[in-house]
Amino acid sequence: MSNFSLPQDLLSNPSTSSHGDGHHSHVPHIVAPMADVPSGDHRSTGYTRVDQYDDISTDLMGRSVKRILETIGEDADREGLQKTPERVAKAYQFLTQGYNQDPRAILTKALFKEDYNEMIVVKDIDVFSLCEHHMLPFFGKAHVAYIPDGQIVGLSKIPRIVDVFSRRLQVQERLTLQIKDAIQEVLQPKGVAVVIEANHMCMVMRGVQKQGAMTSTSSMSGAFMDNPSTRKEFMRMIR
Ligand SMILES: [Zn+2]
Repeated sequence: MSNFSLPQDLLSNPSTSSHGDGHHSHVPHIVAPMADVPSGDHRSTGYTRVDQYDDISTDLMGRSVKRILETIGEDADREGLQKTPERVAKAYQFLTQGYNQDPRAILTKALFKEDYNEMIVVKDIDVFSLCEHHMLPFFGKAHVAYIPDGQIVGLSKIPRIVDVFSRRLQVQERLTLQIKDAIQEVLQPKGVAVVIEANHMCMVMRGVQKQGAMTSTSSMSGAFMDNPSTRKEFMRMIR
């Protein structure tokens, strides 16, 4: 089956036709899959990031954002704001992508049997989230530890699930709990500890909180809860 066809913009784009090189051909040399790549731009075939947005969500949210712009007294049609509704709609889809991801599935896929039973600490994990009360950012660092009981998880999955839970509307307390619970449920370790230190823009920007004041939350299970020296060791390691 052949549904090969030449895109119109390729046919009409002078840079991809063969004017001036001595022989004129009606068939461009460039084949359809490369049509979007300007001639002379030879990219490597390595990693490519692909951003995907849902058109219906973008449209719906964009309309609401336009409404907000008008309500605050802006001219939503002025040049600087013309694409703002679409940009905001896409930004919010990015910032709330965690709703479409299953943190337990991410952990389950990366479990390994291992006899190591010392504390594993992943510290200074970047956290970027949105508070559910104001939909303003809060951000800071998460520190996560667990003591395995026969199985460990691929290290990169810890920051990954912090990200999945962060990319939703949150309160810091629940975010802390959810990270701990997911690890506890899937790995069934001897204990999990999660500490998050974050700065909330809804407090900083509205003057409720002095700039730089951090909110700290923690959630612990198993050995971290029962054993003060284990907890102390964790706290010492994340300082
Ligand atoms: Zn808030």
